Amino acid sequence: MSPHDPPSELASLARALARETQRRGWHGQKQTEMAPTGPETDAGSMPGAQPEVSATGDPPGERDPADALTRNRQDAARATNLTELQRGIEACRACDLCQSRKNPVFAKGDGSSGVTFLNLAPGAAEEACGSPLAGPPGDLLDKIIIQGMKLTPQKTALVSLVQCRPPEDRAPTRQEVELCSPWFQRQVELLKSRVLVPLGGPCAGSLLGQNPDLKSLRGRIHRPEGPPVVPTHHPRELLKTPAAKAACWEDIQLTMKELGLPLGT
Ligand code: SF4
Repeated sequence: MSPHDPPSELASLARALARETQRRGWHGQKQTEMAPTGPETDAGSMPGAQPEVSATGDPPGERDPADALTRNRQDAARATNLTELQRGIEACRACDLCQSRKNPVFAKGDGSSGVTFLNLAPGAAEEACGSPLAGPPGDLLDKIIIQGMKLTPQKTALVSLVQCRPPEDRAPTRQEVELCSPWFQRQVELLKSRVLVPLGGPCAGSLLGQNPDLKSLRGRIHRPEGPPVVPTHHPRELLKTPAAKAACWEDIQLTMKELGLPLGT
């Protein structure tokens, strides 16, 4: 998983993702605008196709980040289901993380309860199994879902803001988050997420375009454009600091109330 994140880098990263969220909106409102304008309905332009190769032999998106972002927006918007979207991510070479990745992660769970948990970027355990969260933190999240929310993990969804593991588990750069944002947002759209729960301050700050200080972000429902957002502690933090579980439970109850789930006892 990502190590400690320098605040300045995370603040830049948050601004980049917020720009993309504001530019695009949610639930595909601007997909028409993003759709390709040319007569490109051939198989080579579909998500999951191999990158086009220029005269120099390089995929165009790798050399020019602006081209890469445009291409990702178009490919993500064209995916009509999660299978197509996953193929697009597996073929993506928009940022340098594609060079060291062994296996990009992809959404886990069907999200039918309406809640989608978000992690910032995969680490070794996540890359190994292709899931956005794995190992002891993943186990703890499952426990929260089963024992606290009275749901099965399959009925929730788990999505990563960045799909490929950064080398040595460093924090993703601002540009990596920005380039990957079309893939992340399209997963949320196709899952029809009704509430987003970013795990940890860096993830919440990136999503909301705010300072990644969890203390100032958690404990309330944010209502930006798109699904409501309820930030909470990362399960990794809960494993280190069990006393934070009470605050996490408050956030989970807020999420359940927003979803219309019974709070129980
Ligand atoms: S991190 Fe995202 S943008 Fe970068 S190569 Fe992987 S899927 Fe593409």
